[in-house]
Order: sequence, then structure tokens, then C-alpha cells
Amino acid sequence: MMPFPSVSANVGAFTAGFLRAYPPAEKPAGPTLYLPFRNGELLLAAPSGGPGRLLRDDRPEAALALQTLLPDEDRAVLYLGTLDGMPCATFAVESASESLPSPDLTALGLTAMGLRALYGVVLDAEYGLAGYAAQILRWRAFSRFCPVDGTPTEPVANAWARACPLCGYSSYPPVSPATLILVHDGGDRILLARKPGWGKRYSILAGFVEPGETLEECCYREALEEAGVQTAAFEYGGSQPWPFPHQLMVGFSCRWESGEIRIDETELEHAEWFRFDALPELPPALSLSRQLIDRWVRSRLNLKRAGA
Ligand SMILES: [Zn+2]
Repeated sequence: MMPFPSVSANVGAFTAGFLRAYPPAEKPAGPTLYLPFRNGELLLAAPSGGPGRLLRDDRPEAALALQTLLPDEDRAVLYLGTLDGMPCATFAVESASESLPSPDLTALGLTAMGLRALYGVVLDAEYGLAGYAAQILRWRAFSRFCPVDGTPTEPVANAWARACPLCGYSSYPPVSPATLILVHDGGDRILLARKPGWGKRYSILAGFVEPGETLEECCYREALEEAGVQTAAFEYGGSQPWPFPHQLMVGFSCRWESGEIRIDETELEHAEWFRFDALPELPPALSLSRQLIDRWVRSRLNLKRAGA
């Protein structure tokens, strides 16, 4: 048993400060936070080459950029809601080859950043907002036509949803659940694995939820398929939106039951048991995987201190 709450037991800064809006809600007047994306990267103001901050139309540093970037059509700007009372909107900027060649970003005082690089650059609430905006924008671009018959879709009121007027097919922003699986041996070791291309970095197991299974069943199946071990006693550890492009990571810990490690070489390069005090290179602090590992390490340390 892990005598700890899940790592996401508290409401995060984004959800605490964000009031969602849905079409056809109109953006209120007043200063607005804009999140323009180009080729999946967020454009930020980078005054005097600084690290970058979100574009607010009441800041002089953003005025020229927004004048240049904002689409002519109001419909192309998606109003998302308010963050701490400030209206927030997102839109897509044409690809680099078209209206805005790359060098122009510098002339406009902008920098482009992928969402992974953005973590820690802006406030946590703004980071959450950027992940949300990226997903709504991506869904909007992918939902223009019905996938059944190719008819242009139409907006549905009071939701992020598009419907086909011909066959009734509806499209919503997708969320794909995936599990993160911390397998421990009931003692001092956890099972960590390395994927091709990860270098020296190891992490816990992970896998997408398949149709027809529970989250716990997904953990059991993935541990068996990827590492050849049987597991039991699944405990929820926390969840995390992961906008790459639209996962919801759901973390669990579980206990090894039987089986020697035998990896699926199409998925993994190496897997091994590691002691809590001799861990290899781990994922960055941003990821739920790392937070679950850190929590488990703390639980082992606490047990040692308590003399267990
Ligand atoms: Zn249709």
C-alpha cells in the first residue's frame, strides 16, 4: 500500500483560474491573451531576446505582431474563456512557407516554441492554457469535413463540437487515455525500461488503453506484453493531460507477481530492476512518470527512516 494521495490530488493552477467558454460565446471586450500557433509551435513575445511570454494585446511588445498575425476573419479566432478574468483566444498562423517566412518572427519580436520546451518558461496556468489551446486548434483543423461522407461540418452550440448536416456524425476534441505503470517488487526495486532513441534515460512502462479494457487491465496487459511480467494490486497514482497531441496519462503503481523480465523488442530496448537509491537517468520533472517515480522513492526513504 502507498500511504500517499495521488500526485494530482490538488486542482492545478490552470483549472483553478480558467473559466471555459464554448461557441458561440463571444470574446468580451478588453485586453486579451492571444495564443497563435504555427506548425504546432506557440508564438510568444520575446522582448530583447528574452525567454518569451504570452502575447497580450495591451502590451506594446505585442501590438505589431498581433496586427500582422491576426486573421481577417473573426471566425478563425477561437475564444477559449478567461484565465484569472482575462479573455483568452487562439488561432493558427499560416505555415512558414506562406504568409510569414521564418525570419519575420524576429522582426516582429517573436519567438516560436514547442509545448515541451515551453514548460517552465511561462507560468503553470499559462502552460496548461497553451496545451488546451493547441488541442482545440488541432481538433478544429481536423474536423472541417465529415469523415464518413466528406460534407463540410457545422458548429454545435455550447460545446466544442462539429456535426455533419448530412449523416449526423459528430466530432469532439479527442482525448486518448494512456496508462503509466510503475511496477515495484514489493521492496526496494522498480522496473524501468528504455525505448529506442531515449539514450541513457529510463522510465516506467506506458501504453495506450485499448477498446474493451479497464485502466487496470491496460496496466496488466502492457506490463505483460512489454516486459513479460505479471502484476497485481493496482493503485491509482494521478493523472496528467499530455498534449502531444491529445493524451490523458493515468498513472498507476502495481506489484510484480511473477515472470522474469522479457522485453518486447519492437517496443523496448532494455528493461531492468533498479533499486530506489541507484536509479538511472530519469524523465524530466514535467512528466507524471517522473512524479510517480519520485513519490515511490520518497515512500521507500520514509520507510527506511521509520526503521522498516
Ligand atoms: Zn456525414
